[in-house]
Amino acid sequence: MRCTSEGTIHSLEPGDENPTRCSCGAQLRPDIIWFGDQLDPQVVDQATEVISRCDLLIAIGTSAVIWPAAGYPQLARQQGAHCIEINPEASELSFLYHEVYRGTAGEVLPALLPEQSGS
Ligand SMILES: [Zn+2]
Repeated sequence: MRCTSEGTIHSLEPGDENPTRCSCGAQLRPDIIWFGDQLDPQVVDQATEVISRCDLLIAIGTSAVIWPAAGYPQLARQQGAHCIEINPEASELSFLYHEVYRGTAGEVLPALLPEQSGS
């Protein structure tokens, strides 16, 4: 959870109650990006830089319509990365991918990336 005032991160452990307030009194919210949230430009720059030199891009559960993330598969592909889409439904960018798996992350990932034994 992230404090809406201070930006501090509060980890939750299994069994913890779901707190709605920070110790400073401000509301806590999940530390994720919601529709309408501003993206941190530094995070966007870092993501763009990493994706522009990746070997493999796996896009999981995205509608591929929200920018700048919607441009990442094309960026990765232009740089020669192998691109995989995992999504229950086709997106407007499905044609960009070398491999497409129709299903949820919970269905596809265990089959695609089986657990390593002995770890
Ligand atoms: Zn706070």
